[in-house]
Amino acid sequence: MASSLTLHHVTALAGNVQRNLDFYRGIPGFKLVKRTVNFDDPGSYHLYFGAGEGLPGTLLTFFPWATPANPNGRRGVRGAGQIGVVTMRAPIGSDDPPADPDGISIQFAAAESPHLESVTLCEADAAPTIAFLRDILGLEPDGPNRLRLGDGAWIDVQHSPDATRGKMGAGIIHHFALRVADEDAQLAWREKLIRAGVRVSAVRDRLYFHSIYFREPGGVLLEIATDGPGFLIDEPRDRLGARLCLPPWLEPAREGIERRLSQMTL
Ligand code: ZN
Repeated sequence: MASSLTLHHVTALAGNVQRNLDFYRGIPGFKLVKRTVNFDDPGSYHLYFGAGEGLPGTLLTFFPWATPANPNGRRGVRGAGQIGVVTMRAPIGSDDPPADPDGISIQFAAAESPHLESVTLCEADAAPTIAFLRDILGLEPDGPNRLRLGDGAWIDVQHSPDATRGKMGAGIIHHFALRVADEDAQLAWREKLIRAGVRVSAVRDRLYFHSIYFREPGGVLLEIATDGPGFLIDEPRDRLGARLCLPPWLEPAREGIERRLSQMTL
């Protein structure tokens, strides 16, 4: 039986914000659905791209790390304990798939409608990660290194005993989020993970959805995110991404936040 869990979004660390914006806005089927800041670090942007009004399962989100002193952002190092590759389906031509300008390994493949298809984890030891995904998240094995999610998506676990440990920085995928319908389902997962001995964060209010975070045994950060409330909570459908949106608790600091952020042109 396929799992009810499927992909919600993938978040990566980019360099220059304008370059990131121009690239992802240019991919057929995608648009900027929210321009906000990293709620945990309001000095940097958080850009959300997706299909429609920001449908879960189509979302790519970025923290652009560039600063005036380091215009491309501090580069990360690819390696074990990280997400190696993400595949995203999009209505592109099949000949010349677009390649992320920061070297983030999001691979695009042609399909009628955008959707996240798979995540590959790079692990120094694949076995504990596979056991975690199978026994704790309840994903169905499909071959020795693949686990099935719902909606035809999957996770591959790449066994890379010689890989050095990766380091976070621009060009690296930060985490991926699995999707649940609502807060009740999320709390049930939280309790299940805690009972299994997994350290899980409290429920965090990401305004557009609610999130819990935990790590799999190899060190990759995972999130379980709810479908709602969605991106229409603070902007009308035809204005998504048009302005810098801040959560109510950061709104009083808007002036200072806007002054520190680098300029971008829509
Ligand atoms: Zn996330």
